[in-house]
Amino acid sequence: MTDRCNLRCCYCMPEEGIPLIPHERILTYEEILRVVRIFAAEGISKVRLTGGEPLVRKGIVGFISHLARIDAIKDLSLTTNGILLKELAYDLKQAGLHRVNISLDSLRSERFCQITRKDDYDRVWAGIDEALRVGLSPIKINMVAIRGINDDEIEAFARLTLQYPLTVRYIEYMPAGNGKEWQEESVLTVPQIQSRLEKVGKLIPIPQDQWDGPARRYRIEGALGEIGLIGAVSSHFCGDCNRLRLTPDGKIRLCLFSDEEIDVREVLRRGCSDDELRARFLAALETKPERHHIKTHQFKKCQRNMSAIGG
Ligand code: SAM
Repeated sequence: MTDRCNLRCCYCMPEEGIPLIPHERILTYEEILRVVRIFAAEGISKVRLTGGEPLVRKGIVGFISHLARIDAIKDLSLTTNGILLKELAYDLKQAGLHRVNISLDSLRSERFCQITRKDDYDRVWAGIDEALRVGLSPIKINMVAIRGINDDEIEAFARLTLQYPLTVRYIEYMPAGNGKEWQEESVLTVPQIQSRLEKVGKLIPIPQDQWDGPARRYRIEGALGEIGLIGAVSSHFCGDCNRLRLTPDGKIRLCLFSDEEIDVREVLRRGCSDDELRARFLAALETKPERHHIKTHQFKKCQRNMSAIGG
């Protein structure tokens, strides 16, 4: 939706921010709707809006109401840091948004402030409460586990699922975003996270369904909510990945970890036909890489920042 964000998470962006994509290069809502309509007719049925922070883009609620009217879209979600959610959750639900993923890396307000460089912990919780109240569910809480930063909170996050009907998803720290920060030693792998979770309670696997994406799902015995484990670094779910990302400046990105992109803005703005757009979509599917190369000698950290990809 945008590369703009109202937080400066230390692993994602430097404090002073990063150079922003000029407004005129950002796809308009009309352009995005056209792309989604054509891609939906080709079989895309799941759309997730992300950023930057999608809720800072003006007019987002109206845009979602148009998106929600595309029949072929069966799952419409949004990933947010939750800061503007208290104000917007009700309108988002009315507009037709199905559910939200909310990023939260600490359950301690001081640490939240150190990680995000903003003192907004209470606002995020007010947003989570409001999302629960209006039924933007299942609500997924995304926690990026980073050694020495928040790994002592893995169990506390799992205990949230005992109390609330929330899905807590642990995401391996990926080599993307704020360049200087990432080191392999900082990554907590899914098996390491899993063994810590087993101290909280017995993990019961939940069978995958077609909407699950890359997370492996579990429930702690007796819990209201779920646990999801996303091993982007340690395991390869590339073979099952059928995801395409559309960047704010109109490129189809084939893999989170590869700068290979296919331009749609250029064809849109020279008045292309629907068939030309369809051809770009098919080209994207055909060139989607078979796997990422993290931890191999071929791996090159990508140029585009996470805030302009969406995570
Ligand atoms: N602003 C929204 C938010 O905070 O959820 C959406 C964009 S944010 C880039 C999407 C997700 O990517 C967040 O959950 C964030 O923690 C995650 N993320 C960013 N950099 C990451 C990294 N290097 N490794 C793993 N996850 C990362």
